[in-house]
Amino acid sequence: MAKKRVAVIGAGPSGLAQLRAFQSAKQNGEDIPDIVCYEKQDDWGGLWKYTWRTGVGADGEPCHGSMYRYLWSNGPKEGLEFADYTFDKHFGKEIASYPPRAVLFDYIEGRVKKAGVRDWIRFNNTIRDVRYDEGSGKFTVTARDSVNDSETVEEFDHVVVASGHFSSPNVPYYPGFESFNGRVLHAHDFRDAREFTDKDILILGTSYSAEDIGSQCWKYGCKSVTVAHRTAPMGYDWPDNWEEVPALVKVEGKTAHFKDGSSKEVDAIILCTGYKHHFPFLPDDLRLKTANRLATADLYKGVVWNKNPKMFYLGMQDQWYTFNMFDAQAWWVRDQIMGKIDLPDQAAMEADPVAREAAEDALEDDYACIRYQGDYVRELIAETDYPSFDVDAANQAFFEWKKHKKKGIMEFRNHGYTSPMTGKKAPAHHTPWKDALDDSLESYLQT
Ligand code: FAD
Ligand code: NAP
Ligand code: MG
Repeated sequence: MAKKRVAVIGAGPSGLAQLRAFQSAKQNGEDIPDIVCYEKQDDWGGLWKYTWRTGVGADGEPCHGSMYRYLWSNGPKEGLEFADYTFDKHFGKEIASYPPRAVLFDYIEGRVKKAGVRDWIRFNNTIRDVRYDEGSGKFTVTARDSVNDSETVEEFDHVVVASGHFSSPNVPYYPGFESFNGRVLHAHDFRDAREFTDKDILILGTSYSAEDIGSQCWKYGCKSVTVAHRTAPMGYDWPDNWEEVPALVKVEGKTAHFKDGSSKEVDAIILCTGYKHHFPFLPDDLRLKTANRLATADLYKGVVWNKNPKMFYLGMQDQWYTFNMFDAQAWWVRDQIMGKIDLPDQAAMEADPVAREAAEDALEDDYACIRYQGDYVRELIAETDYPSFDVDAANQAFFEWKKHKKKGIMEFRNHGYTSPMTGKKAPAHHTPWKDALDDSLESYLQT
C-alpha cells in the first residue's frame, strides 16, 4: 500500500508540534506517513517570528505577524513548557518566568532544529485552496510559492490546519473614524511602543492585547493611556496616567466621546478588539466556524473536523495553555492518522463538542477555565505517548500569575514559578520588567 500523505498548513507552534510528533514516532522506529508542511512566511515560529511588516507581506499576501517589539510572554513560561524539551534542557539553566519573544522563539526553534524537520517544510508557500473529493477519498491542496511565483497542486490523505487564529483582525467601526486626525490602527499592526512616546492613546478592548499594548506604551513613555470598555473595565490598579472609561460612542477631530458623556483628546486609537478565525483557503464543507472559546464548535476532541474526520485543526481554542496543549493535540492527531486511536460513530463525534461547550458555559470564573483547559490537555496526553506532566502544577503557575497581576499589573512579570516538568523554581529576572527596556535574548539570559 502506498504511504499516506499528510499536509500540515502552517509552521507556527502548532504545525511544528505536528512535525515533532511524527518525527518522534519515526525516531521510535515507526513507519510514518509522508509529511509536507506549507508555510507562507520565510521562516518557522508563526507569530513568534517577528516581522516589522504590516498590512501586506513581500509575497503580496496578508501579513501574518501580530507580535510587536518588546513583547514579553504575558503568561508564565511554566504554563507552556514542552514536556519533551524543557527550558532547562534548552538553555542549560533555569531562566526567569516571563521570557521576551526572542527567547521563546529560540526555545521553540531549539526543539525542532534538534528534531531535524526543517526539510519537511516548504517555506514561502501559501495555501490557496483545499478540496476534498468523495470519489478518490483524497484532498487536493493548491499552494502558491511566492519566491518562484509558481503553483503546486498535490493530493493528500489528510490535512492538518495549523494556520493560527490571531492574525486576521476584527476591526469595528465607530462614527468619526474616517475623519479622525490621528492614527487608527488595530493591535495586529502595532509594532513599536516608541511610536507613541509622549502621545495620548486610546485603546478599545479589555483583553490581553489591550492590557499589554497599553502597558508597553506606558513603559516606553506615552503621555496617557485611556481604555474604553464596552462590557466591563479590567479593574487593575493602573498607574496614575492610565484610566478606564465607558464605551466609545464617536470621534470628532481628535476628540473621543464616551458613553457617560465624558470626552478625551487623543493622538492615536489602538483597536485591541480581537481576531477572527479566518480560512480563506477552505471551502464551506471544510471550514471551521467558531467563536474564540475553549470548546471550539464542530471539532471532536477539539481537533477532528466532524464533517470530514480526515481533516484536523490544531490550536483553534482560546488559549491559557499553548505550546504543550498544541503538543497534546498533535500527538493525538498523529496517533489517529497512524491508526492507533479509533474514532467513535458520527453521532458520538458530534455530541463531543456540544458537551464540551456546555461544560465550558457552566464554568464560573477564570480559575475554573484554567482547570478546564488543563483537564483537556490531560485527557489528550493520557491517550498517547506524549510525556505526561504535572498539569496541576501548571494550573498552579497560572493561578499565581493571576494573583500577581491583581497585586501589581506592572510588577507581575518580576515573579518566578515552579516548572511542572522539572519541579525547579525559576529565578527572579535580574531587572524589573518596567525598567528592562532591552528585550534581547542576550540581555534576558544574563545573570
Ligand atoms: P501561529 O503562531 O499564528 O502560526 C500559524 C502559522 O501558519 C504562521 O506561521 C502562518 O504564516 C502560517 N499560515 C497561515 N496561513 C497560511 C496559509 N494559507 N498557507 C501557509 N501557511 C499559513 N501565547 C503564549 O503562550 N504566550 C504569550 O505570551 C503569547 N503572546 C501572544 C501575543 C500576541 C500579540 C498574540 C497575537 C498571540 C500570543 N500568544 C501567546 C498566543 C499564540 O497564539 C500562540 O503562542 C501560538 O503562536 C499559536 O501557534 P499556532 O501555530 O497555532 O499559530
Ligand atoms: P481577545 O482576547 O479576543 O479580546 C478581544 C477584546 O476586544 C475583548 O475585550 C472585546 O470586548 C473587545 N471587542 C471586540 N469587539 C469590540 C468592539 N466592537 N468594540 C469594543 N471592543 C470590542 O483578543 P486579544 O486581546 O487580541 O488577545 C488575543 C490573543 O493574543 C490572546 O491569546 C492573548 O493571550 C494574546 N496576547 C498576548 C500578549 C503577550 O503575551 N504579551 C499580548 C497581546 C495579546 P468584550 O469583552 O466586550 O467582548
Ligand atoms: Mg501520555
